[in-house]
Amino acid sequence: MSSGIEYVPVIGLEVHAQLLTRTKMFCRCPAEFGAEPNTMVCPVCLGLPGALPAVNREAVSMAVRLGLALGCTIENESVFARKNYFYPDAPRNYQISMYDRPLCCGGSLVFEDGEEEVSIGLERIHLEDDAGKLLHDRGGHSLIDFNRCGVPLVEIVTLPVIRSPRHASLYLQRIRQLLRYLGICDGNLEEGSLRVDVNISLRERGDETLGTRTEIKNLNSFKAVEAGLETEIERQRGELEAGGKILQVTNLWDAKEKRLVMMRRKEHTNDYRYFPEPDLPVLTVGDDWIEDERAKIPELPLERERRFQREYGLSAYDAGVLTTESNIADYFEETVRLTGEPKMSANWVMRDVLRELKTSGGDIGVFPAGPDALAGLIDLIKEGVVSTSAGAEVFTAILESGESAVDAVRRLGLEQISGEDVLEAIIDRIVESNPDALERYRGGKKQLMKFFVGQVMKESGGKADPVIAGEILRKKLDG
Ligand SMILES: [Zn+2]
Repeated sequence: MSSGIEYVPVIGLEVHAQLLTRTKMFCRCPAEFGAEPNTMVCPVCLGLPGALPAVNREAVSMAVRLGLALGCTIENESVFARKNYFYPDAPRNYQISMYDRPLCCGGSLVFEDGEEEVSIGLERIHLEDDAGKLLHDRGGHSLIDFNRCGVPLVEIVTLPVIRSPRHASLYLQRIRQLLRYLGICDGNLEEGSLRVDVNISLRERGDETLGTRTEIKNLNSFKAVEAGLETEIERQRGELEAGGKILQVTNLWDAKEKRLVMMRRKEHTNDYRYFPEPDLPVLTVGDDWIEDERAKIPELPLERERRFQREYGLSAYDAGVLTTESNIADYFEETVRLTGEPKMSANWVMRDVLRELKTSGGDIGVFPAGPDALAGLIDLIKEGVVSTSAGAEVFTAILESGESAVDAVRRLGLEQISGEDVLEAIIDRIVESNPDALERYRGGKKQLMKFFVGQVMKESGGKADPVIAGEILRKKLDG
């Protein structure tokens, strides 16, 4: 039953990203993932009485760079604040975060969805420290690992301006890409170095009043973000159409069962009793510091994507794929520089290199076939020494042996046969042993050309130059 009212989703995202600093936010403990539980701790991050925090300069630099890349205003003065709450993963009983004076304000993330340019406005980016990790069901107990306690986080908060689950997912993909381009977060959603909470409400179309919003947590993949939001939009729509009221709740996404589980009902907004952190001075980031960070920002994903289309004549899709990760874009550009062949290089990187990386789960930084090896192969194909189909075999050989393309071709005997004498001999043999096909071809069945070309390729072990073979064949068959 439809009430005839159209509801529009209003979505906001809060992303927490663990910064790739060497040490924690307020102490000198290593900020490492995967160490033995409770080995990376000290009085400061354990919140022992009398221990004093000191700000990690590297974390501030990273947050400033992120803010600049997103067009935020970087505040010369910002204030760390205590966010008070009681939970076993926070031994101090408060988190050091930022409240009314965050480091970065405003800004936006721009991306393309097909032909549409989407700009998602940001409210703020601030620094804070992470809580410990609860490990449940350990012999009937829950245990706490404090290693994560104090690891630096940036929290990136959008305005409630995202209009669809798809855009929410694209936004998250682009934020992850940007964090990785800037080298400040590894963006691992499964391990939780990148976490996202979404809030969602529905409003009636034409009415600017926002409805009651609910939150979803535990969204640890792009798919989960989209599916969780779609489920919640349907739930809220059903509730409203039935004349019900939306309650302010926090839901957990159960990815296995593809459903939402209510975690808690919020009767009141949480009162964290924020106040300025008395153990830390005002965070002062001067203009010189800001300019130093600006100088470290590499070409950003969207700029690079657009330049690839312009400079190399690539399609939007190809440019998008090739700039997903900066090291893949670097690999591609180096290959183009060596070959002067953007299109061919794009095809090889997108098809063979990316497929190999996907199946091997490898990192292009340690890929056995570097741009010089691939460029060597592309040159051989361009010069007609190997055919495109034999090229795939050569590429596999390079991956396995690490040898150059020239050596692999020689070892495997894959040089293309383009000598007319050799090809003519092969073709004569084929024409002689297929008199029926020849008669039918001459009788008008011209599509048999394909059959003859196939025979030539078979006879030559895939090494015949198809262009030259085609010319000779046409002469023989038509003559
Ligand atoms: Zn510590």
